[in-house]
Amino acid sequence: MKGVTILGATGSIGINTLDVISRYPEKYRIVALTANSEIERLYRQCQTFHPEYAVMGNELAAEKLAEKLSDVMPDIKVLAGMKGLEQVASLEQVDIVMAAIVGAAGLLPTLSAARSGKRILLANKETLVVAGQIFIDEVRKNQAELLPIDSEHNAIFQCMPDNFEQGLSSVGVRRIMLTSSGGPFLITPVREFSAITPDQACAHPNWAMGKKISVDSATMMNKGLEVIEACLLFNTTPDKVQVVIHPQSVIHSMVEYLDGSVLAQLATPDMRIPIAHALAWPDRIESGAERLDLFKIARLDFEAPDFDRFPCLAYAYETASQDNSAAIIMNAANEVAVAAFLNHDILFPGIPQVISKTQSELTPQSVETIDDILSEDQRARELAKDIIKEIMNGNC
Ligand code: NAD
Ligand code: MG
Repeated sequence: MKGVTILGATGSIGINTLDVISRYPEKYRIVALTANSEIERLYRQCQTFHPEYAVMGNELAAEKLAEKLSDVMPDIKVLAGMKGLEQVASLEQVDIVMAAIVGAAGLLPTLSAARSGKRILLANKETLVVAGQIFIDEVRKNQAELLPIDSEHNAIFQCMPDNFEQGLSSVGVRRIMLTSSGGPFLITPVREFSAITPDQACAHPNWAMGKKISVDSATMMNKGLEVIEACLLFNTTPDKVQVVIHPQSVIHSMVEYLDGSVLAQLATPDMRIPIAHALAWPDRIESGAERLDLFKIARLDFEAPDFDRFPCLAYAYETASQDNSAAIIMNAANEVAVAAFLNHDILFPGIPQVISKTQSELTPQSVETIDDILSEDQRARELAKDIIKEIMNGNC
């Protein structure tokens, strides 16, 4: 019986994880569920899974949840804030931590799981992007296990030979082909981008996901973050990671070997598949996903990405080869810009505009500690917010 903590239980990945786990009550026991402020949903999840701990990032929400639980499930311990999130990621009775908080807010709890040597199912790509090698080093030092949940990286992991950590050329791999659906605006004329609404940007053609990653998919910043994620997870450089537009989202990524062989992982677009893979690895369990019907799919298409249409992808490639705070700055500016777009403060083309302006006004610094990361993140967020105010005042 494996003890599981789900960081971000109320989100899209969290809900899919609980769906897979509910199929195997004899294998997995929920120790802790966490959310930011969705009291009702976390309460219902507590009724179903009866964890030992329920944590709310937001202190006020934690008080309300504790009050609601006190009559009916008084044995569930309610914790609050970052300390609570870090605590449940490191409990002794926890074997597996699903890291599914969105954004850099997931950094400290995911790091806590790494420092306690857990199996980390990593959905929260922003943690990897901002903490980079510092996070990978913590994983290694503490003998934690890092299993990718992002469908592309999970696919790559499945196609990689053993010992890929040594470096790709030493294990016979030439490059990674990272597939992308291209998002909802693959063929929308660029002159119409200013009229894109948050609802349109969140309507992904193949995947149902949280709002932030949906907007990232629409700008292709998601693929950019994934290029950086691939470099860190598979110990390689951005020139060895090729983005391939594949609108059907059937091939989730590929690995090309020195002899010319290309291995691919195919599946229906359903996050329960990588979640089930990483939960049970190296075994296999049922995920509940629909099986792949190649006759129904009939054809698979591929094309090269258009960096002019999607400048965020170009920014991420430029950032991927730097070992200073460039990725932290880009990620922070993107998080702030996406939130502003979702709030109708800026237009869709304002997202790359805010990122590029933030990048041009801040010189990346060297980062050696978690405190360095947090202060660079803060510095970039403040500047990005100021840039958004200027745009809103029509001065930009
Ligand atoms: P979501 O918005 O649906 O859920 C986010 C979860 O994080 C919620 O439970 C929310 O309560 C919690 N949260 C948000 N801010 C928080 C904070 N400040 N403190 C504590 N908790 C906080 O997001 P999602 O789509 O499930 O994505 C989660 C992560 O997984 C993201 O990093 C995303 O890039 C990655 N991912 C998601 C998918 C997908 O299919 N949804 C696929 C690949 C990768
Ligand atoms: Mg992905």
